[in-house]
Amino acid sequence: MPTHTKTYIDPPKPATRADLERFHHPHYIDRVKELSDHNGGDAGEHAIVGRGSYEIALLSAGGAITAVDAVMNNHVTNVYALTRPPGHHAETDQGMGFCLFNNVAIATDYAKEKYNLKRILVLDWDVHHGNGTEQAFYSDNEVLFISLHQDRLYPADRGYIEHTGEGKGKGYTVNIPLPAGTGNAGYMHAFERIVEPIVNEFEPDLIIVSAGQDPNFFDPLARMMVTTKGFYQFSEFMNKLAEKHCGGKLILCHEGGYSAAYVPFCSLAIVEAMSGISTGVNDPFTSSLGAPVNTLFPHEEEAVKRVVQEHSHFWSMEQKASQK
Ligand SMILES: [Zn+2]
Repeated sequence: MPTHTKTYIDPPKPATRADLERFHHPHYIDRVKELSDHNGGDAGEHAIVGRGSYEIALLSAGGAITAVDAVMNNHVTNVYALTRPPGHHAETDQGMGFCLFNNVAIATDYAKEKYNLKRILVLDWDVHHGNGTEQAFYSDNEVLFISLHQDRLYPADRGYIEHTGEGKGKGYTVNIPLPAGTGNAGYMHAFERIVEPIVNEFEPDLIIVSAGQDPNFFDPLARMMVTTKGFYQFSEFMNKLAEKHCGGKLILCHEGGYSAAYVPFCSLAIVEAMSGISTGVNDPFTSSLGAPVNTLFPHEEEAVKRVVQEHSHFWSMEQKASQK
């Protein structure tokens, strides 16, 4: 458990144009600004821009950058960047899935350059595939990208197990598609069998998480069964990895999550795990959901096994895998 108990809220600085250009094409940035300055529209595929969205998106990307500075300068050990719009679907030249600028890709590139980091882990537990972030680092061996997502949800043709990176980045993209209905136990099985051995071998200097709370039980845009307990477990797990490898340096950036009633409880559980502070607020929704969400089902084990097999070409996973 983390021992630090001081917490505070840091206002985000807006990202600069140069920050956006770390990942996005200038013509795409111009398009978002043009839409935002006038009557709005779609900056790609389901990436709606309203009047003033550009400035808000700058604050969202800037929030992720502010988080990097806060952690790297030891102002805090870890940060939850509560920002919207989200970023992980945004590709270099188009917005997608409510995402305008890729906050995590921009902040990761910023961290690499400003702090000369050679090994950054980006883990994406949003229920949708982090296609934009994958694109940013697909041929990069200094950024390990791991995405856990509902199999063939959105984008439906992305996030396959066989998509493992290219060139010197081969093996540094790890896609973990999980079957619809996966709950706390199935996710934790994937964390323990796949994420843990790979991250221990990679030894990151900094961990950034795309924290989408849309694998939650009640999400209208997905079909997973994670509860507050599960999100607490995910966060505790990532905290332990951060403490083991990088002095606890952990940044979570808010991505999706569309149950307005339930997501606040999920995000609170995450912040409790990161801070070590218990607020005493109980999840009022899931006390009766014990069995299905906390059971590991054979088809979930099988899905995890397929990823282990694929990545045993790149990482030392045999021992973990053979313990079954
Ligand atoms: Zn999502």
